[in-house]
Amino acid sequence: KFITFEGIDGAGKSSHVEWLAEQLRGKGLTVQVTREPGGTELGEKLRELLLNEPMHLETETLLMFAARREHLARLIEPALARGEWVVCDRFSDATWAYQGGGRGLDKSKFLALEHWVHDHLHPDLTLLFDLPLDVARERIVLANRVLDKFEQERADFHERVRQAYLDRAHGNPARMRVIAADNTLENIRKQLEVIVASIC
Ligand code: C5P
Repeated sequence: KFITFEGIDGAGKSSHVEWLAEQLRGKGLTVQVTREPGGTELGEKLRELLLNEPMHLETETLLMFAARREHLARLIEPALARGEWVVCDRFSDATWAYQGGGRGLDKSKFLALEHWVHDHLHPDLTLLFDLPLDVARERIVLANRVLDKFEQERADFHERVRQAYLDRAHGNPARMRVIAADNTLENIRKQLEVIVASIC
């Protein structure tokens, strides 16, 4: 199965990715953990550019999908064909939310690229880590990280990203589950356990 994690920066999703993979491995499954943009040698090079270089919105979107095409061909599809599970930190919903909601990319352009690149393959399950923007911001400040291009955007950008994610979840209720991420680690893991039990 193919599981993706989504959410605004500071939602804490990345720390749950490894934990979930371990839970699945504990059930005897073989699990590939990966991320976007990235996941392949070329994808990681594109990630460097995408996170640091200013560029036209459509260039940014095309490179996101170019990295995704490579990721699907080289890692995701072969792993799924071997019967393994793939847990991916961000996928196309992030492009919907960041380039679409955040930057205002035309929806039809997103849909055309999604159709081209992976009409045949969608995640079986997407976990959307949702929390208020001020809590997410506080976490980023506390972590004292060097901020990438997207994290440096203003609050209204991130608010649009959050809303776009929530809209997408409402439009795809069978695939996407919203996790209330403004919560203790223990509580979030409990929410994850229930969801995972339902798909294993
Ligand atoms: O989740 P992670 O921090 O690794 O994501 C890297 C950055 O790329 C994030 O700041 C995210 O906002 C951005 N991103 C994006 N569009 C995507 C995927 C990621 O703007 N489609």
